[in-house]
Amino acid sequence: MSNDNTTQGEVVKSVLTAEERAQLTPDDILQEFIKGNERFRNNNLTQRDHSELIRESAVGQNPKAIVLSCIDSRVPVEDVFDQGIGDIFVGRIAGNFVNDDLLGSMEFACKVAGAKLIVVMGHQHCGAIKGAIDNVELGNLTTTLANIKPAIQMSQDYMGDKNSADEGFVKTVAENNVRYSMNLIRKNSPILKAMEDNGEIKIVGLFYTLTKGELLFVD
Ligand SMILES: [Zn+2]
Repeated sequence: MSNDNTTQGEVVKSVLTAEERAQLTPDDILQEFIKGNERFRNNNLTQRDHSELIRESAVGQNPKAIVLSCIDSRVPVEDVFDQGIGDIFVGRIAGNFVNDDLLGSMEFACKVAGAKLIVVMGHQHCGAIKGAIDNVELGNLTTTLANIKPAIQMSQDYMGDKNSADEGFVKTVAENNVRYSMNLIRKNSPILKAMEDNGEIKIVGLFYTLTKGELLFVD
């Protein structure tokens, strides 16, 4: 890919420019993420001159995507996609759900700052998903986990034990949570919906596996 600034074997010393980003379609960026994840899994992360990238990026940014992820320490978002300083916006919240503040952040990322891809990324063995299934109540966490309840409702057809000890059920709820979040983006943000409809951006759902470090698509 001519504008892939993560060419294997070289140390990346320059931050993504507006001109380089203009050449990328939402699909190109998604393909870069898939290839980046392959490098991550193969222990072949791109070498980056962070000192140089810090200096260069201080004057401005042209990130190509925004990723909504859980806060889980086992999901290092930039590394998962092999992206560096200035490449992506990252929104993180326990259970990677969408609320008004995250929607506003996504609208900023795409409409104002020019990002072309929205990734909603759930993950395997998610404690927030398990907590919501178990109806955990603890301070403000109770309100946080309530955002995941619709995904549990969407998972009632699951054939098996519908509890947090059943890994298949936890995965099903996590995937439905990604689907529900993508639908909320389209429903509650006319700005992002219009950008998706006219091809300016793409909204993609992914499920990250802790056991293999791989990304599965969530339709
Ligand atoms: Zn999680």
